[in-house]
Amino acid sequence: MQDQRDALRPVRAWYGLRGEIQVENELWHLVRVGRVSLPHPPLINLFLRAGLPHSERLRLSFEHEYGHLQTLPVAVLHLMLLRPLRRKSLTAWMAALLAHQALWELAAESWVMTHEGESYRRAYQGIRKRPLLFAIGMLTLAAVGSWRALQR
Ligand SMILES: [Zn+2]
Repeated sequence: MQDQRDALRPVRAWYGLRGEIQVENELWHLVRVGRVSLPHPPLINLFLRAGLPHSERLRLSFEHEYGHLQTLPVAVLHLMLLRPLRRKSLTAWMAALLAHQALWELAAESWVMTHEGESYRRAYQGIRKRPLLFAIGMLTLAAVGSWRALQR
């Protein structure tokens, strides 16, 4: 079971995109789509999964990474609306990228909540403040960043 969790696991998004995800441990994740590999420290997962049992941390972290693939069209659409490459100031460009990342994090975790349903609520029973703080924080960053990026 542990070996299977550590391995690079193939996934397929609802719109057909195929990729692979590896949640090696709580400190290192890898997402690969085609020839593009994105090894990264899972900062959002570290925050969101604190206080959960080890197996739940890894399982929900995997689902969060999968959620990024599942919600990629939403993130791309949002980024296209902000058009960061047309921004003239560095501040507006950075605001667009920050808003994009915040929205995508929120979308990925929302996918996890929807996909997991009752088991997500059970996992966070007694520590519901953490996902709530995350949602408020990401929503605020996405809204403020988008607003700032769209200013002329
Ligand atoms: Zn994420």
